[in-house]
Amino acid sequence: MTDQDLLQRAVAAADAAYAPYSNFHVGAALLLRNGEIVDGVNVENASYPLGICAERAALARAARLGVRPGDVEALAVTASPCGGCRQWMLEFKLDRVVFMHEGEVLTRTPEELLPDSFEL
Ligand SMILES: [Zn+2]
Repeated sequence: MTDQDLLQRAVAAADAAYAPYSNFHVGAALLLRNGEIVDGVNVENASYPLGICAERAALARAARLGVRPGDVEALAVTASPCGGCRQWMLEFKLDRVVFMHEGEVLTRTPEELLPDSFEL
């Protein structure tokens, strides 16, 4: 699967987003090292801080399937990841993140997206 294919999976997932407040639908797709794809969407809530981003939704779903740091090769997302999601991407030790930003498709490592990051 190419990064462009993975991004198309994220675009397709975005249709299922639950975003009645912002109407900003975001999809994310993970490529696991075993070749499986796990996707996620943003889910909003009337209490706005309780919403979850598509990237974290996908990673949480993957964790339920037994995925652990190092098991995810790439993550594609239809928007530029927020700071919190960048921290999650570091935690899961992804190789690369592919995302749409201002009409461009960018590829970065988690370290590039969040330099000098917090670690325990
Ligand atoms: Zn986020």
